[in-house]
Amino acid sequence: MRDPFGREISYLRVSVTDRCDFRCVYCMAEHMTFLPRAELLTLEEIERLCSAFVRKGVRRLRITGGEPLVRRNVMWLFERLGARLNESLDELTLTTNGSQLARFAGQLYSAGVRRVNVSLDTLDPQKFRAITRWGDLNKVLAAIDAAQAAGLSVKINAVALRNVNEHEISHLLEWAHGRGMDLTLIETMPLGDIEQKRTEQYLPLSLVRARLAQQYTLEKSAHRTGGPARYFRVTETGGRLGFITPLTHNFCESCNRVRVTCTGTLFMCLGQNDSADLRGALRLSNDDTLLDAAIDRAISSKPKGHDFVIDRRRKEPALTRHMSLTGG
Ligand code: SAM
Ligand code: SF4
Repeated sequence: MRDPFGREISYLRVSVTDRCDFRCVYCMAEHMTFLPRAELLTLEEIERLCSAFVRKGVRRLRITGGEPLVRRNVMWLFERLGARLNESLDELTLTTNGSQLARFAGQLYSAGVRRVNVSLDTLDPQKFRAITRWGDLNKVLAAIDAAQAAGLSVKINAVALRNVNEHEISHLLEWAHGRGMDLTLIETMPLGDIEQKRTEQYLPLSLVRARLAQQYTLEKSAHRTGGPARYFRVTETGGRLGFITPLTHNFCESCNRVRVTCTGTLFMCLGQNDSADLRGALRLSNDDTLLDAAIDRAISSKPKGHDFVIDRRRKEPALTRHMSLTGG
């Protein structure tokens, strides 16, 4: 699958639910309205959709949400998709808030998952509660232990937040690297209405990096994932540190990915509104001809890059959809 700019699309992120058991301040409003269930793809439909993409050359799948592990029976999907590993699929991964990970870690490993991303912005229980509104830090820390014990390699994703965790980042880094986990820092993105100003949260990663560089030796790493992350090796800890700066830098030229929401809408770019409805094609016929054609049409219109126009003083988001719909 090649888009008009010659980029090979080999990575698909799939959101399996818009629901979540947390309400992170940068992601959701406290009183979120979730989609009616009939709007969501069934797990069987998600599996059919993923299979179509895999047939067309997608080699890596990431399951996300909302919180993917709150979707009922989601292990069925992992088992079905995991059965493709070693043949048509290279990797099946998951991004999770960790709340339910302790009980699923063993099953995920058995299904063929080897790496998970756990989102964790602070190691302070009160701050954790303030950021996630509903989360319990100890549960997430126990889940990380369980995941590592089950054989899963864990990467930590942390959103850099002004005045919240900005002075804790080196602590997070030492903690993560000390446990053999990579750490990736994410800049806040203006996606979805969150009932508060985003200016208050925004912390440029250029600043975080400059501060860390005073304390550590950051060696540029050749590691690439095809996404908007750039990586460094931290000499003192031996661990890897990533920076995801989709707004301050534009790495669209090597973008290898597309995203499907839990309603079957395909977004060709995280920062653009261009989308294609695949649910209609899925539901119109059991034959995949329509679905294949809809995917081909969509890929042939993948935008060259994003042009997030950010005015962080505004309360309104640059794009109205929430991250929990497209899954980041
Ligand atoms: N619930 C899971 C989790 O938190 O890992 C998966 C979905 S969550 C939407 C995926 C990632 O997006 C998380 O690492 C989260 O911190 C990040 N995220 C959510 N809203 C964001 C925003 N507005 N800007 C930047 N990152 C965001
Ligand atoms: Fe839920 Fe993840 Fe969004 Fe937090 S970032 S509210 S855990 S979907």
